[in-house]
Amino acid sequence: MLVKGMPVNRPKLTLMERVYVVEILKGLYVTSRHFFKNMFLHTLHLFGIAKRIPAAVTLQYPEQKRAYPERFRGSHRLTLKPDGSVRCTACMLCATACPSRCITIEAGEHPDSNVEKHPIRYDIDTILCIYCGDCVEACPVDAIRMDTGLHPNPRYTREGFVDGIDTLIKRSEPFSAVVI
Ligand code: SF4
Ligand code: SF4
Repeated sequence: MLVKGMPVNRPKLTLMERVYVVEILKGLYVTSRHFFKNMFLHTLHLFGIAKRIPAAVTLQYPEQKRAYPERFRGSHRLTLKPDGSVRCTACMLCATACPSRCITIEAGEHPDSNVEKHPIRYDIDTILCIYCGDCVEACPVDAIRMDTGLHPNPRYTREGFVDGIDTLIKRSEPFSAVVI
């Protein structure tokens, strides 16, 4: 089947733009201008002069970290019931809503006959995840959240990027159990 796309008008590069040296020099000029301006302002601030003129803010990361807004979507966690068991009912709604198809859930029989099922496997492939939050929105029992404030850590293997159920539960430990 032929799929028709929307034509995109790409601007033609001028001769000066095609000779990249000029564009590189322009970029260097902008970078240098900011560098020297900030160095000048920082020097003035150091001597207590012109403190009202703001200079670039430099954070000594990772020792200093900027506070994230409340709605920041960080690494996922699976929330817990007051008895410490996982709240997830393995209903698969989050996996169905996920546009990246990066959630894999396996349901198992719960030892308590009053509970229909629970997840025995809950994996999130964080390489595929786009941190959109749709899984959080889709969950009917508030079992998955992205309020950890954590960035995904650098990892060295593809398998290492998969957050398993134990990791997701462990991230809930600093939070108290949420009662619905
Ligand atoms: S944040 Fe988005 S992409 Fe990531 S697991 Fe949830 S629904 Fe999927
Ligand atoms: S996290 Fe929520 S939506 Fe996903 S399977 Fe568990 S209960 Fe269902």
